[in-house]
Amino acid sequence: MLILRNLLVLALALGLAGCAARTRNGSAVGTSGSADQVTLQDPTALAAPPGTTPSTSPGTTAAPVTRPALKPALPAAPSAEIANVWIPLAAWCATNNGSPPRLVEAGAQPVYAIDGATGKFTVRVATQVATWDGLEIRLGYAPQMANDQPMLHALDLTKTVKPLLAGPAPQRLPERPTIVLDPGHGGTDAGAKSVLGPYYEKSYTLDLAFRLRDLLTAAGWQVHLTRTRDVDMSLADRVAFAERHRADLFVSLHFNSLAPNQVESGLETYCLTPAGLPSNLTRGYADDLTQVWPNNAFDVENLHLAARVHRALLRATTMTDRGIRRARFLGVLRNQNRPAILVEAAYISNPSQAQQVASAAFRQKLAEGLAGALLGSRQTASEPAPARAITGQ
Ligand SMILES: [Zn+2]
Repeated sequence: MLILRNLLVLALALGLAGCAARTRNGSAVGTSGSADQVTLQDPTALAAPPGTTPSTSPGTTAAPVTRPALKPALPAAPSAEIANVWIPLAAWCATNNGSPPRLVEAGAQPVYAIDGATGKFTVRVATQVATWDGLEIRLGYAPQMANDQPMLHALDLTKTVKPLLAGPAPQRLPERPTIVLDPGHGGTDAGAKSVLGPYYEKSYTLDLAFRLRDLLTAAGWQVHLTRTRDVDMSLADRVAFAERHRADLFVSLHFNSLAPNQVESGLETYCLTPAGLPSNLTRGYADDLTQVWPNNAFDVENLHLAARVHRALLRATTMTDRGIRRARFLGVLRNQNRPAILVEAAYISNPSQAQQVASAAFRQKLAEGLAGALLGSRQTASEPAPARAITGQ
């Protein structure tokens, strides 16, 4: 306890707020008490210098990428120290000019809210499910209590809470952005099967991509589809296609299934997991937290794009919000050199959602929601950057 208190004092004095806490498993992690360990733990200092070569674990297929000069640098893999840092939420708010976190729900899993310029971020202890401005956001680690204080993992604060509360940075999108839309699956890979009969995800994604292409093209965007027919296409070819067309944005379109479960329904929007955080979905793939993929250079942009699209799709439909999530195994995202997201637009294993997806009017609503979000992301380019500091409200 004494060590912990000393560490807190030291960390707060440094403005870093690094601290020992308990992991999900209940074992103690974090700092051991020496000053030099604490000084390593500024979670805002994760960016590597420009030109850093991505590091990958043995067995991965990521190739070093030559990046255009204006592209953001890849983040470095978090050090072992950063990977184990838990931060008292109150201390983090204090160092980010914010008001202290508010307890908004007591109980075994208390809920705390942080008020920021872009909305309210809430976290619930012992679950990864958080919210920002009404949207569900999945954290990498469930917040924990230590010394009666809520603690968040440093990387969740750096990679999720801080960027969302700060708002999007000025966009780099040109006047007529080039976007690659990726209708998921195709050819012998039919994707999910509708619970209603022999109707497949690959057809629905292609139809949705056509509808979205028309809307974006009408607004002056340059739109390319990875496939315009019912053909096989590897994930690597889809990434290469986006590279060839020098896409500014990449959006992969999918419909979800949990067959034979017919209950699950709703919208999920995915982006690549930032290095050092566990994924929210692994589908049985190894989830190596040390991996840094080319698309990790766009962690913040990915998150903002996902949030914008997710919100617009929820508004355009009456779907259940199943959250903005991160996954590392998605081969169509992780080698992208541009902001990239993957939308799981509805569950076609759920009879009522399958019925909706089978309707052209519903697919048009999805396309319009997506188009509104994407066109809006271009419009933010001319707006002044929002205040970076968190303000008490
Ligand atoms: Zn799919």
